[in-house]
Amino acid sequence: MIAFEFNNPTKLIFGRGKLTALKTEIPKYGNKVLFLYGGGSIKRSGLYDNVIALLNEIGVEVTEQGGVEPNPRLSTVHKGVDLCKTKGIELILAVGGGSVIDCAKAIAVGAKYDGDMWDFLERKASPQDALPLGTVLTMAATGSEMNGGSVITNEETQEKMGWGSPYAYPAFSILDPVHTFSLPKDQTVYGVVDIMSHVLEHYFHPEDHTPVQDGFCETILRTVIDTAPKLINDLENYELRATIMYCGTMALNGVINMGMSGDWGTHNIEHAVSAVYDIPHGGGLAILFPHWMKHNQHVDVDRFKRLATHVFDIDPSGKSDEQICAEGIEALRTFWNSIGAPNRLADYDIDDSKIDIMAEKAVRFGPFGNFSKLEKADVIKIYNMSL
Ligand code: NAP
Ligand code: FE
Repeated sequence: MIAFEFNNPTKLIFGRGKLTALKTEIPKYGNKVLFLYGGGSIKRSGLYDNVIALLNEIGVEVTEQGGVEPNPRLSTVHKGVDLCKTKGIELILAVGGGSVIDCAKAIAVGAKYDGDMWDFLERKASPQDALPLGTVLTMAATGSEMNGGSVITNEETQEKMGWGSPYAYPAFSILDPVHTFSLPKDQTVYGVVDIMSHVLEHYFHPEDHTPVQDGFCETILRTVIDTAPKLINDLENYELRATIMYCGTMALNGVINMGMSGDWGTHNIEHAVSAVYDIPHGGGLAILFPHWMKHNQHVDVDRFKRLATHVFDIDPSGKSDEQICAEGIEALRTFWNSIGAPNRLADYDIDDSKIDIMAEKAVRFGPFGNFSKLEKADVIKIYNMSL
């Protein structure tokens, strides 16, 4: 285990009907609220009307910004920052999936900064303050509802980058599994892949002894593997939605990975793909992660054997180490495909024509990954394996 500090200030409010907590939470932070949401799913589900009714009940002044894109864009962040500055916004309320929440985090720090918020992604500056943020989650996937991370796309330069700050944690997040009932099957699957990928990014850590953390990771993976196939055939099942929602938050709120550095190479490789092709994050991960694994199998054979035997119940008897590792990786790929995730870049009509451009973006800050350091040549190899 490496040394660590843990501090997660987000208040989690979980359960059926918990939206009404807005009435007690919002007044703690102010009277002028920026209500941020995505492309319209919350209007179709009725959540928008419910939020507006509660905001009206407590009499706060509401400024609305809808239209946050999946893979949220810098221009949308700029629009929100301008609104916050001109309207004197005191709290941002993000209602949606990870994209809306990530965008809200970027607006929250941008509103307290004199320069361009993109400076934080370029590592030219780091946030020193932020507006408070509350969230109502509608999609289990990113864990953004309880972490300080965010991913923003600069559509002009075709760059998609992550950033994080202690100031970017939501002050509170309301998680009612009912709000995820309307999430269609494909997006539910992308969320499942993202959740599992976050756990796997932790699991492939270079540290030696983290048995409790490894057990947390394996429990979440096994739970998702058990739950997801039932959920995609029963999208309005409260308990199944609740289980996946809880897994999504726990996968990336810092609890399961204390003392582990994790890897995070696959996320970086995926961001470069969705920067250029604007594909769903979970779809990209489903394609790339098994190939990252094959490329890195030799780095720590025991880790891959443990994944195979502890998560996918591969019987090791009479098999070589290589065979056990390969069967574990194949079991992951097969599982994702079985629930409807894509398995090749060609599924998104992506060919080899921009591999060099994507690889260049991936190594923009130099070689990356903790379990295994990847250079540009490694990234190119993984993209080629994924075609
Ligand atoms: P998302 O981009 O927020 O949402 C995907 C789609 O699902 C949108 O079209 C959205 O529609 C729709 N949707 C969401 N909730 C719905 C509901 N209840 N019913 C019907 N449709 C619904 O997806 P996401 O996977 O949560 O976020 C992806 C972004 O997060 C990517 O940019 C990714 O790189 C980033 N990410 C962040 C972190 C982090 O820690 N911050 C970690 C991993 C990935 P509407 O727009 O109409 O609402
Ligand atoms: Fe992710």
